[in-house]
Amino acid sequence: MSDEDLRALAKVDLHRHLEGAIRLQTVFELSREAGVPLPADTVEDLARYMLVQSPVESLEDALGAFAITQHAVRTYDAVRRITVEAIEDLAAERVRLAELRFSPHFLCEPGGLHWDGAMEAIVEGREQALAAGHDVVVGFIAIFSRDYGMESAERTVVFALRHRERLVGFDIAGPELGFPPARYARVLEPLRDSGLGLTVHYGESGPPPYPREAVEVLGPARLGHGLSVAWDPDVTSLVRDRAVTLEMCPTSNWLTKGVPTVAEHPAGRLLREGVSVTLNTDDPGLMGIDLTNEFRVARDQLGFTNAELAHATENAIAASFLPADVKAEARARHFGWLDRAS
Ligand SMILES: [Zn+2]
Repeated sequence: MSDEDLRALAKVDLHRHLEGAIRLQTVFELSREAGVPLPADTVEDLARYMLVQSPVESLEDALGAFAITQHAVRTYDAVRRITVEAIEDLAAERVRLAELRFSPHFLCEPGGLHWDGAMEAIVEGREQALAAGHDVVVGFIAIFSRDYGMESAERTVVFALRHRERLVGFDIAGPELGFPPARYARVLEPLRDSGLGLTVHYGESGPPPYPREAVEVLGPARLGHGLSVAWDPDVTSLVRDRAVTLEMCPTSNWLTKGVPTVAEHPAGRLLREGVSVTLNTDDPGLMGIDLTNEFRVARDQLGFTNAELAHATENAIAASFLPADVKAEARARHFGWLDRAS
């Protein structure tokens, strides 16, 4: 398949952060509007500070690069705007099923916004984008960031339960080392029968015991990244046997030094070993990528055949937290290429 063919394929993105999907131009404009000082006078110059395009020292450093974008969003209008634009960008990439995740605490912190107001603005943003004719189904996932502490975690769970009709899932993110999964078993308990899907960022920067404990103790349907699942055959077997889906993001994992080179990313190997692997973007705004780019990386550097690209896409449809009827309709309407490729 040519690059143009890859672009034209109907795709699924299960792992994309709303706060990491903001356009550079928009960060620039929103910061100006809000009077937030920027380290640059032009959008081009801002790219040097904001875009992560070569490996950072650690995941924590990459999270630091979020600060500029985070401080740009200070009003409900800004939240609505970034949601509309994120959906426009998904549609432009031919993503037909998408899950956008956000941390209410992180998103609302700089502007002192109310979490419920931000949820309102996000839902309005989706309505506005869909009313403009963008043909993509978008579900939302609420996140708590481990480094905000346990009180924030509890508050985020209560928030997610209050908005369970507007969300499809729940996630834990942020720094991993020193934040073992078992610590969160109790706080996640109320979500168990909520109907919300559970995914957790583990095995992104943490070694294999982290994703192992996450699977054994928290019982998530999916792991965010789950990169280190590949470094221990027992953990690989555990994830395969429990049918846990991995939301893999090759470029992001390389930029945060989860793998020394993109070519060493284990997504292809794990897929061939029977693990439910999917391909996703993580933070396209910060990394200057899109999902077509990740498909290209999978094809050119990870050895994915067309059938394997189709397989990863089938995995993503199956593992998406969107309602089954919605997925079936999108599958029938847009994803004919999966039948031809596999
Ligand atoms: Zn992520």
